[in-house]
Amino acid sequence: MQYEEVIGLEVHAQLKTKTKIFCSCSTKFGAAPNSQVCPVCLGMPGVLPVLNRKVVEYAVKMGLATHCSFAKHSYFARKNYFYPDLPKGYQISQFEEPLCTDGYVEIEIDGQPKKIGLVRIHLEEDAGKSIHEEDWVPEGETFVDLNRCGTPLIEIVGKPDLRSPREAYLFLAQLKGILEYLHISDCNMEEGSLRCDANVSIRPVGSDELGVKTEVKNMNSFHGLQRALEFEVERQKSLLEQGKTITQQTLLWNAKENKVVPMRSKEESHDYRYFPEPDLVPIELDYSWQHELEQEIPELAMQKKQRFVSEYALHPKNSEVLVSSRETADFFEATVKIHKDPKSVSNFMLGEVLRYLGDTKASIDSTRLTPALLADLLDLVERGAVSLNVAKSVLPELAQNGTPPIDIVEQRGLSQVSDKSELSGIVNDVLEAHPAELQKYSEGREQIAGFFVGQVMKATKGKANPKVVNELLKEQLLKRKAGS
Ligand code: ZN
Ligand code: MN
Repeated sequence: MQYEEVIGLEVHAQLKTKTKIFCSCSTKFGAAPNSQVCPVCLGMPGVLPVLNRKVVEYAVKMGLATHCSFAKHSYFARKNYFYPDLPKGYQISQFEEPLCTDGYVEIEIDGQPKKIGLVRIHLEEDAGKSIHEEDWVPEGETFVDLNRCGTPLIEIVGKPDLRSPREAYLFLAQLKGILEYLHISDCNMEEGSLRCDANVSIRPVGSDELGVKTEVKNMNSFHGLQRALEFEVERQKSLLEQGKTITQQTLLWNAKENKVVPMRSKEESHDYRYFPEPDLVPIELDYSWQHELEQEIPELAMQKKQRFVSEYALHPKNSEVLVSSRETADFFEATVKIHKDPKSVSNFMLGEVLRYLGDTKASIDSTRLTPALLADLLDLVERGAVSLNVAKSVLPELAQNGTPPIDIVEQRGLSQVSDKSELSGIVNDVLEAHPAELQKYSEGREQIAGFFVGQVMKATKGKANPKVVNELLKEQLLKRKAGS
C-alpha cells in the first residue's frame, strides 16, 4: 500500500520584547537563575497582570505577514496544569477568539509554490525551566529557574497541509525567515526561542480521512525536526504494514539515540480546564493602529528573492542565499546602488563576505564593513588597481577596522602591477628558473602555462595583473618556440 504523510506543526516563538508579557521583568537570556522575577511572574496571590503593548504589536505584525484575519475582541484564558516550572498553576494563553486566525505562508517545493494554512496565531506566556541535566545538579534532584516565566510567546498552529518531513522543514524555515525579517524574534532554536511540535499521521494515498495522529515533541533543531518526522513516519508505516494499529500518543524525540520515545502516560491526556482570565480585559484591536503596523511590514524573503532575480539578473540560488537574512539583502542592495555591477557585488558577497561572517560567527551589521566600503573595494578591482585576490585578502581588515580600502592598499603596497616592462622581466625570470617545465611545455603540454602564471603571482605576492601576465606569457612562450 502507498501511504501519504499528513503533518501539521505547532510553533512557539519567543518575542523579542525587552520586558515580559504581563510584568516589567527583563527577558534577557542567560541571567543568573531566578534573578529576573517579580510577584507577578512568580504567581504570588493578589497581584494583577498588565499586558505589554509591544507583544500585541509583534503578534499583529506576524498575523499581517501571514495573511491572517484578526479577532475584533480577543481574550485571554487560563490553561490549568500542574508542573514545578509553572508557579501560578496555570498558563495565561488564548483559547477561544485568538488574536489571529486563518492565515497561510508560502513554501517552495521542487520549484513550485505551495500554500500552507495557519489555523491560528495566539499570544501566551512561557513557563520556567526545570533543570535536571546540568553537571552541578545532584543525581535525582531537579532545580527550577523561573526567569523565563512570563516571557512572551506566539503560538503558531499550522494546518495539516504538509505532506513530507521536507515540507515541514521548509515551512518552519519560512516561518523563521518571516519572524526574523519582522525583527520580532531571535528564532534561536538552541536557546529555545523557537520551538516546534508536530502532529503526524499517515493515510492511504487517495484517502480524505485523517489517520490516527501522534504528537512529536522536543525537536530542537531544523535537522532534528526532519529526522524526527522521518523516523515517526517510518514507524507508523511499519506498524500498519504489520497489521498493527497506531495509538494516539505524545512522543519525545531523542536526538542522541535517533528515535522517538513515548512520554509517560500521565502527561498524555491533559484536561486543561480552560476558562477566561478574569484579570485581563479583552484585546480590542484598533483598526488605525493595525493599518499603521501594516505599513511597517517589510518586503519578505520570498518576494525579495524573486525581485532580485528579475531586477538584478541574479541566479535564483544566489538570490536565495542573499535574502536569507534581511540585513544581508539590504546590504547587497545598498552596495549595488553605489557600485553598479550586481553580479560582482553578489559574487563577492556570496563568496568572500559570507565566508568571513561564517568564520567569525558575526552578522553583517556587527562588522565595520559598510556598503560604501565594499563598493570602494570593488571599484578598485574594476579599475584594475588591485587584483581580486588582493581584494579578498584585505576584507578582514575592512570588516574589523573600517579602514578605507585605498588606504590599506597603499599602506601595504598592494597595488596591482599592470606595467608590462616590469612584469615582462618577472615572466622571463620564471621561465628561466623552470627549464624542466619549459621543456614539457615545448613538448606540447600546454596546461603547464597555468603553472607559470601561478609562479608569477607568487613572485609578485598576488599583485600582478593576471590578464597582463597571461598576455606576456603567451608572447614569450611563442617567441621561445619560434627560437628553438
Ligand atoms: Zn515579573
Ligand atoms: Mn502553547
